[in-house]
Amino acid sequence: MKIGVIGGGQLGRMLALAGTPLGMHFAFLDPAPDACAAALGEHLQADYGDLQHLRQLADEVDLVTFEFESVPAETVAFLSQFVPVYPGADALRIARDRWFEKSMFRELDIPTPAFADIQSQADLDHAVASIGLPAVLKTRTLGYDGKGQKVLRNLSDVLSAFAELGSVPCLLEGFVPFTGEVSLIAVRGRDGATCFYPLVHNNHDSGILRLSIASSDHPLQKLAEDYAARVLDKLDYVGVLAFEFFEVDGGLKANEIAPRVHNSGHWTIEGAECSQFENHLRAIAGLPLGATRKVGESAMLNFIGSVPEVSKVIAIEDCHLHHYGKAFKVGRKVGHATLRCATRDVLDRQIMALETLIDQQA
Ligand code: AMP
Repeated sequence: MKIGVIGGGQLGRMLALAGTPLGMHFAFLDPAPDACAAALGEHLQADYGDLQHLRQLADEVDLVTFEFESVPAETVAFLSQFVPVYPGADALRIARDRWFEKSMFRELDIPTPAFADIQSQADLDHAVASIGLPAVLKTRTLGYDGKGQKVLRNLSDVLSAFAELGSVPCLLEGFVPFTGEVSLIAVRGRDGATCFYPLVHNNHDSGILRLSIASSDHPLQKLAEDYAARVLDKLDYVGVLAFEFFEVDGGLKANEIAPRVHNSGHWTIEGAECSQFENHLRAIAGLPLGATRKVGESAMLNFIGSVPEVSKVIAIEDCHLHHYGKAFKVGRKVGHATLRCATRDVLDRQIMALETLIDQQA
């Protein structure tokens, strides 16, 4: 089976690493000449709206999937005429626009921060009056890793933020005084079968995920699964979907969904029976889903900007390095490492060892 992937970054690369043992082949459509997934399959170097290359991709593959959600709607609609596309157009349309996303949470009775659609400065002034400060202004589309958003703490922030974000359609959200951030990686097959990985605790630094730790028997696991199942069924979803939540007042508030494999699920490569990457491929290919249970205790640390010296990373016991083969650049995710240990005590020690190494090499 040959899978077409829109996007050729590290997520595409890890999909191919998981799918190759299943006998799958891959083609990536990505305009970047140095797309890091290209080492693992065919690379169609073209823009996401290039109909000629999209048609070529559709002709060559059995189905198409995505490694990012900001794919133009026209690209999805065009491909869907010729080849099955998972997840479907509706899931992508909703997940790439924060207004549609939050409106869906509200419709499904999933708690979420107070929010308002912002098309102008007047809308913002009005929304701040009802939601209050602090609040977070986010562009409706194209935001990632903390980009395209501003925290509004006082009235001077309110006066400048909309213009600073480019006067594009935005969403204003009430600021959530969360005690933690967790994510749930969910999978739904073509037949509607679903499964869920253990909740993951996430720590961000300047809006970029830095550390994920897989939980054991998290008290909010079932609640998170219930919320995710509502979204999966509503969207008739096929594939892996990541659901990010704020932990607040002993409950959960939905932050956002990502209709794809997700950075907070990278630990599953070593830390779960079947990884998120393999399960995404199984789901979209109509194969039985794999077990999501943990194998030991796991944490994942991102390498942002650069990868520390390889020999030093892998000298840490139980440490599994993933070097994406990308050019090093400030703020860019260029690799990660998973620590998988027998007990939480050992895991905490290994996290400290790896954090120390990252700090030393920064
Ligand atoms: P996002 O791109 O929406 O995932 O936001 C990036 C990060 O900003 C989140 O992981 C949170 O740490 C923080 N953040 C986003 N929205 C809010 C909010 N409404 N209240 C408090 N913190 C937020």
